[in-house]
Amino acid sequence: MGELVELNEPLELEEALGILTEHAPEIMETETLPLPDACGRVLSEDVTAERNQPPFPRSPLDGYAVKSADLIGAGPDSPAVLRVLDEVDAGHPARTAVRGRTAVRIMTGAPIPDGADTVVRQEDTDEGEETVQVFCTQKPWENYCPAGEDYHKGDPLLKKGMRLYAAEIGILAGLGRTEVKVFRKPRVLLLSTGDELAEPGSSLSEGQIYNSNLPMLRAQCRLWDLEVAGAGSVPDDAEAAASFLRENAARADLILTTGGVSVGKRDILHEVYRILGAERLFWRIAVKPGMPVLAGMYDGREILSLSGNPYAALADLTLLVKPVLRKMTGRDDLRTVREKAVLLNGYPKKSPGRRFVRGFVRDGKVRLTDRSNDSGLLSSMAGLNCMAEIPAGSPALHAGEIVTVVRL
Ligand code: AMP
Ligand code: MG
Repeated sequence: MGELVELNEPLELEEALGILTEHAPEIMETETLPLPDACGRVLSEDVTAERNQPPFPRSPLDGYAVKSADLIGAGPDSPAVLRVLDEVDAGHPARTAVRGRTAVRIMTGAPIPDGADTVVRQEDTDEGEETVQVFCTQKPWENYCPAGEDYHKGDPLLKKGMRLYAAEIGILAGLGRTEVKVFRKPRVLLLSTGDELAEPGSSLSEGQIYNSNLPMLRAQCRLWDLEVAGAGSVPDDAEAAASFLRENAARADLILTTGGVSVGKRDILHEVYRILGAERLFWRIAVKPGMPVLAGMYDGREILSLSGNPYAALADLTLLVKPVLRKMTGRDDLRTVREKAVLLNGYPKKSPGRRFVRGFVRDGKVRLTDRSNDSGLLSSMAGLNCMAEIPAGSPALHAGEIVTVVRL
């Protein structure tokens, strides 16, 4: 049974964030993955070129490899006439060098033969087979991709800490690599608490609601590319919650719980921390929703206990958990994105405290929910992509005013 806890002044969000990011451990362990599995992961080593790319001078187009000196004076009415010695296709060696007044027919990507210093586009010739007429002049090294044009052996290509997207995977494959070393994903342990929770798929007894937080947290973990190290749901029973955490914490870098962090008799998380001997970092932040959040350290990992109200949990995920994960991973895609936006509609209430209102932002314009912004409501979260941040002490807001929005 939860003991009553003494109320403390809520911390400013920034103060809470400072404490959390200071305590969050950076994940330094790495793993080696096949390239296709590494997309979205964070590179844990600098990558330098092990060879020149391309390894040979190559043609950027279909045409004829020639000596530019042989084209002097050539034009539409006075073509240079060259003898075609050979043909070279992509993927095959150039067998025949170009000598004076000769040409080698060449395809895009094929090695340029010795002796040639330029490639004439086939559109600038008569496309001859035995001899070719060239109707233009060209400068030396025009249409000529030298060996190492892309990069030279030893050039730095990718930096440790970069997130690997399709292009970076392509660069690694271009080096002939099949594997890459990346930092491992953060492992997150999830726990929802509440006597009233029934799992989706089961039937509801009197007084119960479905557990929507756990699937929501799981979904957010997937979107943020985290590993869910375990997930559970317990009633409002501090011993049960504590034993779940005790048994599973070792697998996790971060623990997230929902429910039971307010001031009621059934707000058990305070007691759970005591049972576990978790160090309390803070309780309550000065934002609405998401004020009743409890944070601590348990055996070297952070534990963040969010309100059970779905929108409060979502707000704290964005405002607190995301920056913690950014610190743990160094991932730039987890940075908090704030932008200014013009209000398309108003917000009717005064905001004595700092408030985050469900919003839909696009092209610098934000529409606030026209339904209730109450933290307990699920339905008015549908489709939201941001929260409009309304500073403490703000009057009602009107369309046309500028607000700051935080992207979800
Ligand atoms: P609490 O944070 O435990 O005070 O819960 C606040 C509100 O959120 C209550 O109405 C709970 O029934 C509801 N709630 C708590 N946990 C969940 C959950 N996992 N899924 C949906 N609603 C929840
Ligand atoms: Mg509760």
